[in-house]
Amino acid sequence: MQQKLNKLENEIRKSLEQARDTATLEEIRIKYLGRKGAINRLFKELTHMSLEEKKAYGEAINDLKSKVTAELNLALQKFMDKSEGKFELLLPGKMPPLGHFHPLSKVFDDIVTFFKSHGFTIETGPEIEYDWYNFEALNMTKDHPARDMFSSFFIKEDLLLRSHTSPVQIRTMEKQKPPIKIICPGRCYRYDAFDASHSPVFHQVEALYVDEDVSFGELKWILSEFVKNIFGPKTKYELRPSFFPFTEPSGELAISCMVCGGTGCSVCSNSGWLELLGCGMVHPNVLKNVKISPKKYSGYALGMGVERVAMVKYIIDDIRVFFNNDIRFLEQF
Ligand SMILES: [Zn+2]
Repeated sequence: MQQKLNKLENEIRKSLEQARDTATLEEIRIKYLGRKGAINRLFKELTHMSLEEKKAYGEAINDLKSKVTAELNLALQKFMDKSEGKFELLLPGKMPPLGHFHPLSKVFDDIVTFFKSHGFTIETGPEIEYDWYNFEALNMTKDHPARDMFSSFFIKEDLLLRSHTSPVQIRTMEKQKPPIKIICPGRCYRYDAFDASHSPVFHQVEALYVDEDVSFGELKWILSEFVKNIFGPKTKYELRPSFFPFTEPSGELAISCMVCGGTGCSVCSNSGWLELLGCGMVHPNVLKNVKISPKKYSGYALGMGVERVAMVKYIIDDIRVFFNNDIRFLEQF
C-alpha cells in the first residue's frame, strides 16, 4: 500500500510539473482528487484491511490528499497571477486626472482674446512703479483727493506697488505716438483687507485707444461688443456717468444681472444690474503729460478687474475662492 501511495504521489507531482495551463490542472484535479479519482479509490481498498492497517493507511491517504490539494492550489495560484498580469496588458488603461485652467485664467484669456481680435496689442509694465506713472501722469497730483480711491502699498516716497494697470498706458504713450491701440493685463496691489469683496492682490485688464477723432461712440460700441462676447448676446448693459481723474467724461458699465436677468434678486440687491467696469475719454491733461496733443488726438480707456468679471460671469459672491485653491471649487470650471 505504501508503495502505491509513493508511486501515486510521484505521478501526481510529475503531472503538476508538466502542467502548462489551468485547464490541465483541472484535469489533474478530477483525475486524482475527484469523487471517483485515484485517491478516493484508495480509500475503497481499505475495506479489506485490518483495523490497524485501516488506521495507518487511512491517515497516509488523507495526508497525500491534503498534500496534493495544497500543491494543486499553489500551481493554480501561479497560473492565476501570470494570467492576471497578461489580462492587465489587455485592459484599457486608467485615464490620469486631467488638469484645467483656473477660472481667473479662463476669464483673463477670454478678455485678452476679445481685444486682440479687435486689433489691440498687449503691453505690460513693472509691478513696482514710480508715483509719476501710477498717479501724477494720470492727472493725480500729490495732493489730489482721488488718490484716496487707491489704497496703495508705498515702498518709498516715490515708489509703490502699482495700484492699477494704468501706468502701462502712460509708459506706452511716452514711447509710442498715436495710433495706439493696446490692452494692459496684469497684477495690481492695494492694502485692502482680504474679505468677500476685496483682495490685496488682484488682476486688471485695461484697454486704451488713442488716435485722431476717436469718439465716445466708439467706446460705446466696443463695450457693447465686449458684453455680448463675454456674457452672451442677450445680456443688457447700461452706461452710467461716473468720475475718474484720468478720463473726462467718465462712465461706469453695468450689465443685467446674470441670476435674475434684470428683474431683481439678492445677488444684484434687487436692482437688476451688476457693475462691471470703469471707462471714459482720456483726459486732455493725461495726453499733455505724455506730449500727445489733445487738440489733434483723442482716445478712450476702459479698465476692469478680472476677478470682478469672473464673479459676475460665474455668479460668485466671495473673491477669496479664487485664491484658496480648494479643488472642489476649481473643478467646477
Ligand atoms: Zn439679480
